[in-house]
Amino acid sequence: MTEQENPEREQYNYESLDEILEEVKKEDYDKVGLQGPDGIKPELIEIADELREHDIEPVMVGASTFGACGIANEKVERMGADALIHVGHTRFLHPEKADMKDFDVYYLPYREDRDLMGVLEEHYEEIEAEKVGLVGVTQYMDRADKAREFLRDKGFEVVEGKTGLRTTEPGQVLGCDAGAAHNIAHKVDAFVFLGSGHFHPSQVSETGKEVYVVDPYEKHIWVEPANSLGDEMQAEIARVMKHKDKKKWGIVTSSKKGQNYMRAVEIAKEKLEEHGKEVYIFVEDRIFESDYKGYGIDIYVNCACPRMTKDWRDLAFVSPKALDALDEVEEMETK
Ligand code: SF4
Repeated sequence: MTEQENPEREQYNYESLDEILEEVKKEDYDKVGLQGPDGIKPELIEIADELREHDIEPVMVGASTFGACGIANEKVERMGADALIHVGHTRFLHPEKADMKDFDVYYLPYREDRDLMGVLEEHYEEIEAEKVGLVGVTQYMDRADKAREFLRDKGFEVVEGKTGLRTTEPGQVLGCDAGAAHNIAHKVDAFVFLGSGHFHPSQVSETGKEVYVVDPYEKHIWVEPANSLGDEMQAEIARVMKHKDKKKWGIVTSSKKGQNYMRAVEIAKEKLEEHGKEVYIFVEDRIFESDYKGYGIDIYVNCACPRMTKDWRDLAFVSPKALDALDEVEEMETK
């Protein structure tokens, strides 16, 4: 049953542990799982201590999590937990509509305590656009209203962001979902992005617009050029061309609920088979290059999280989209 067909199990993003404790007590749960990303391990211990103070036994998930795509419900359920507190991210909507609500998960997004507004106030004049779309990552979306008001006061036309395919906060983007930006791209000259690093802004740049990154780590506003992922796609196409005559191809997917896209796997498999390839499908929780060495397969299609294969050095990986290059080669050869 899909999440949409099973609406009675409501799950929400919470702004405080107190709110979650209230819910957990209402349900009379006495053991709950706890998971979060690498950067906040000390905070996770504090949360575990607080749960214990309320006579709730915490079960900690050892591996860090990169997104709510990786909720560890099965692991904590095996340990007898009644529910899971997922710290760091907002609830994730599955793009293939798999049920993400078959276990009680309380989402406590992590809000980064850095001076985002200070950076915006000091550097906003560097934004060379009149109409902007406001987007960002969960860590700063609690300040989106303030940022919007500030920019409007300074004369910018700010277009409200919508939610994406997998996100639940307006304007929020993930490394695998910049839908919030794509939805409003036709109405804006550029995007203002609340956050840091290139991974997320580069996804937003796929809208064809420049992205002004209000970066509280670098303490300034820098620009991600439009379509900056173009080079990455070119590199993927070059890998497809290099291995186009190889017989054996692999497809990797993840057993993490939010990264398990069986439809994408089927489509990639069909396409490869149409081109006469022998296809092997692999599944693993986290995807490490070393696990895929030794099979005699040189090229893998990543149908899980796009960031998983970015640090592969010896084996080739490509996204499903890059497989279109095989069609183009065939077309050229039959002309
Ligand atoms: S980019 Fe990867 S880790 Fe982040 S939400 Fe998407 S699938 Fe999960």
